Amino acid sequence: MSTRLFGTNGIRGVINQELTPQFLLDIGMAIGAHFKQSEIIVACDARTSSQMVKSAITSSLLASGCNVHDAGTIPTPSLQYAVSRRGFAGGVMITASHNPAPFNGIKVIGPDGVEVERKTEEKIERIYAERNFQLKPWNQVGEEFPFTEALELHKRGVLKQIEPKRIAKAKLKVMIDPGNGVGTLITPYLLRDLGCKVYTMNSDLDGTFPGRQPEPTPEALAGLSKAVKAVGADLGIAHDGDADRCIFVDEKGEAYYGDKSFALIADWFLTHNPGEKIVATFNCSKAIPDIAAKHGGKIIWTKVGAITVSRTVIETGAKLGGEENGGVFYAPHQPVRDGTMTASLMLQILAERGKPLSKLMAELPRYYVNKGKVPCKNELKEKVLSKLLIQASNLKTETLDGVKIWAEKDSWILLRPSGTEPVFRLYAESTQPKKAEQLVHEYQDKLTKIIHDAG
Ligand code: MG
Repeated sequence: MSTRLFGTNGIRGVINQELTPQFLLDIGMAIGAHFKQSEIIVACDARTSSQMVKSAITSSLLASGCNVHDAGTIPTPSLQYAVSRRGFAGGVMITASHNPAPFNGIKVIGPDGVEVERKTEEKIERIYAERNFQLKPWNQVGEEFPFTEALELHKRGVLKQIEPKRIAKAKLKVMIDPGNGVGTLITPYLLRDLGCKVYTMNSDLDGTFPGRQPEPTPEALAGLSKAVKAVGADLGIAHDGDADRCIFVDEKGEAYYGDKSFALIADWFLTHNPGEKIVATFNCSKAIPDIAAKHGGKIIWTKVGAITVSRTVIETGAKLGGEENGGVFYAPHQPVRDGTMTASLMLQILAERGKPLSKLMAELPRYYVNKGKVPCKNELKEKVLSKLLIQASNLKTETLDGVKIWAEKDSWILLRPSGTEPVFRLYAESTQPKKAEQLVHEYQDKLTKIIHDAG
């Protein structure tokens, strides 16, 4: 048994605490041993520590005999697209995505552009634990090359999936908030090329994230909402730190949870592709299966986690997947979440439908949502889950990821142990305005009591 280093989205840690130069060199050598003297593309986000991490990983990959193609500072989906389209054996992305500034992380990408599977992560963890590195003699050390076309390649790829002329005709005004992250390197330029009037805020690259937290939750986007209204924009767009996620604000300044915008994208997609499959994480709104039913589509539910969605999209041949947090997977482009692709799909929808976003959202099945969390030690989570199930034995429950309890036909609450933090996350939804809030309160109390008794 080796220690687990990879979490739900690669290796994450605080710089110079968990992620020390020595650790980075060692894990880099383990990754290098896995990739075996092949062509690897490496890139990073704009965090203060990203160059440090990239240098250590690059050094180890070269020492292991891999040739390293340095794509510089770019979004994660730009690296993923370059890996699959340019035939690299793999990629390493240095990013902590939406985590706070002290963190950094490493995502290992396979030849298909998707984060490697768990069994590959286990292999890398084993090489690391056994220090089974494959350092090469002097005449087999790898070479480093610049790779400068990632952003251009990615932009051209996105453009192939939409109708630029139609979008240009709509003359949309857009306010973009990349949150001082790498989304600023692609989305504003692409949207300008699409004929939009583009405004930006928090658009200087800054690893201290002075504008807002790197996670674009609707609650953190008050600045974007204000800015959208101030300039009279049709749309506000926010990315997370590495721009694989996208959250939208309508022309009235209202920010939507990611599963609401995903519902709109699903409706558009199924209008063009009736009967198709859609992959959705278990915490997504019921609006999505409602929309699928309307178009004769089929929902494939997955556990929460971007890699699980990507792998399910590939295995089932689905063309669209989505998460509650603003991740959208549009497989005709690439089967990974891609914030710039998601933003472009939204522009296509606005141009095609010719209505403001607030109207389009109002036409979707109406659900009220409420969310919450309850602290719970990791070692108690299993026990608490089984207690919850026993208590709810007279209600309809589903257990794909945590416990989803159906209070009534159109009201449910999901209680899910977080994979990254010592908390239970609660998501409730109902057609009745107060019901979701009531459910969260009721189950926060129940959960607190169960956790207290279990501890
Ligand atoms: Mg991210």
